[in-house]
Amino acid sequence: MPEKYKVKDISLADRGKLAVEWAEQNMPVLRLIRERFQKEKPLKGVRIAACMHVTKETAVLMLTLRDGGAEIALAASNPLSTQDHVAAYLAKEGIHVYAWRGMSEKDYFAAIASAASMGPDVTMDDGADLTVMLHKVALGEARGIDYEIGSKVLSSSIVEKIRGGTEETTTGVIRLKALQKEGKLLYPVFAVNDSLTKFMFDNRFGTGQSSIDGILRATNILLAGKNVVVAGYGWVGRGIAWRARGMGARVTVVEVDPVRALEAYYEGFYVTDMSSAAETGDVFITATGNTDVIRAEHLLKMRDGAILANAGHFNVEISVRDLERIAVGSRDINENVREYRLPNGRKVYLIGEGRLVNLAAAEGHPSEVMDLSFANQALAVETIVKKWEKLDKKVYKLPRSIDNRVALLKLKALGVRLERLTEEQKKYLESWSG
Ligand code: NAD
Ligand code: SAH
Repeated sequence: MPEKYKVKDISLADRGKLAVEWAEQNMPVLRLIRERFQKEKPLKGVRIAACMHVTKETAVLMLTLRDGGAEIALAASNPLSTQDHVAAYLAKEGIHVYAWRGMSEKDYFAAIASAASMGPDVTMDDGADLTVMLHKVALGEARGIDYEIGSKVLSSSIVEKIRGGTEETTTGVIRLKALQKEGKLLYPVFAVNDSLTKFMFDNRFGTGQSSIDGILRATNILLAGKNVVVAGYGWVGRGIAWRARGMGARVTVVEVDPVRALEAYYEGFYVTDMSSAAETGDVFITATGNTDVIRAEHLLKMRDGAILANAGHFNVEISVRDLERIAVGSRDINENVREYRLPNGRKVYLIGEGRLVNLAAAEGHPSEVMDLSFANQALAVETIVKKWEKLDKKVYKLPRSIDNRVALLKLKALGVRLERLTEEQKKYLESWSG
């Protein structure tokens, strides 16, 4: 590996320690897993390369895996999401961290290549940038900045010792399934996102709250009475639409899927296409995982002062390219808000360069919800280490038994009592004769 770590300022470590301890206080399920890992050391000698948001919650996960015996290299999964004090603390704790807030695109992929160069047995990803880089290098697919940077540092045989990987988010899973479909997936991957105790909670309640949090921290606008347009009514979109409504906004949903559009309609939201929503919205939030959802034709219809935020995927949902192309001028209003003057004299405001608003302008999801996602991650890594010889080069869901285990532990920590089936009820539910 190039250097042991690369962070903004190692002297921030003490502040990072406090933040991580605060997160762990609110992550009871992961804490239990950490205690078990400390005793059993199920990951002894395992090398893990991870590409995830370097937040206080990820830090608790990394320390859990380290306490299980793993050696870890961690790169940021977004140029704007790193909490620099947390990165400094992790570096002091012996994790090879390559991450700082405000990395350039080149630094971002170089950091991923640095983490990958440890020669991992297991990869952990959030958005699939690490996994895709490894695949491009191994397959010699000489396209893109990730290949250019990765192929200078990594050998094409690097994937041969990888036993398996995990993927945290919807879009990452889509990318990996596309690799599998083309017959190019080179090792098994667990789609952590597809666990019920992940997407039903993290994507919905986590993104719902933290995206609104990011918009408010960046702008301090009053949400009550605002016309908020949410593009995409999947798990993330639902969460945002419901939370925005809860704060008094009038919410419009834009969807391409007829069933989801109908669901949004009957849940009481206005539903229309982007072209007409563009004319009335005060705040636009994209949550589709798709590209160019808001384009020049929409930007030119928007009201003066419209605010643009993305909660979905990378920086492609709002076409920043179009915005830069049509704007006659621009300036930063604060660290997270950029004003663009349009040729029609109106101004629009982009938060966090069109990157994930909840991680760029706030702290990402609250620890309570990441507890569920990262309990799944820790158990997924343990499953890979135990079962890799039986796995094919496929995208797998985690078994339902892990969902049940995680949910039960969370309910126990919350002090919630669960009803139990009687023997008679069990028989009744399995019988056909009545
Ligand atoms: P999902 O598949 O459940 O929902 C996406 C929805 O967007 C679908 O209903 C789809 O029909 C719709 N859609 C696609 N193209 C559209 C378009 N052009 N206009 C309007 N609607 C369109 O996915 P999800 O779990 O809700 O995730 C959405 C995105 O958010 C993904 O990129 C995911 O990786 C990301 N995500 C972000 C966070 C975060 O912390 N910000 C958390 C979880 C997931
Ligand atoms: N890396 C890509 C992909 C989307 S990231 C990008 O930056 O655009 C979305 C993922 O971030 C979610 O699946 C969620 O689990 C994760 N996330 C949200 N809040 C987080 C937090 N506080 N710490 C770590 N990860 C977080």
